[in-house]
Amino acid sequence: MIIDTHCHLNDETLIPEAERIVSEMRENGIEALINVAFDFASSVKSLEFAKAHEGVYATVGIHPDSSFTDCVMENYEKMAEMATNEKVVAWGEIGLDYFRLDDPKTPVKAIQKGAFIEQIELASMCGLPISIHMRDSIEDTMTILKENSMMLNNGFVLHCYSGPKELVKEFADMGAYFSFGGAITFKNARRNIESLSEVPMDRLLLETDCPYMAPVPHRGETNEPKYISLVAEKAAEIKGIPVQEIIDATTRNARALFTRIK
Ligand SMILES: [Zn+2]
Repeated sequence: MIIDTHCHLNDETLIPEAERIVSEMRENGIEALINVAFDFASSVKSLEFAKAHEGVYATVGIHPDSSFTDCVMENYEKMAEMATNEKVVAWGEIGLDYFRLDDPKTPVKAIQKGAFIEQIELASMCGLPISIHMRDSIEDTMTILKENSMMLNNGFVLHCYSGPKELVKEFADMGAYFSFGGAITFKNARRNIESLSEVPMDRLLLETDCPYMAPVPHRGETNEPKYISLVAEKAAEIKGIPVQEIIDATTRNARALFTRIK
């Protein structure tokens, strides 16, 4: 059975569907879901939802887009308290997103970097691995991870890794796991596919990032955890191995990184 290591059942689109999605998990071959938070409110909701549902796990964390409003001491203290709950399996998603830097609503680089480093420290204090969001920011992300490598002792995943393949080894040597989703099924996925072929089998994870990134033939629709089997099949094709081997390896890896998954 598969573990969806990165989904957003707290996204507005999926909130009305969340109960149904979870009730169908097992028949869709999914043994566990990590419902990843992206701001303070979704951290609270993610933990509440996880407590009420078997096989559903939570994270706490503030995405770079929300770092300007949500990264305040009061929230950090509450999140660190929430992180003591055994249903919280990681700190994230956190990181750097420079995609919309020209948008006045996007926090500037310095604010994003500060929030990223503060949360790396919190994750380490709480004994949690980190789920990292990296968009158009690979150099600064690499620099921050290197400068704070002592605080990465609980491991980290680069979610929705899209390359470049040349950096897979460098990240892997730092202890990285690499997660792949629907983007590997897209027509223009050359960079993602080349990267996935470079990722060692013991560092590979699967995700949906739903409601975004629905795999082909559902591209453009609302994504759901059930489509993760299409991601597993594509990953198997890229690695040239049976899909069951992909499923077994990625589930084993997810349990090795997110040690609180039962
Ligand atoms: Zn995400």
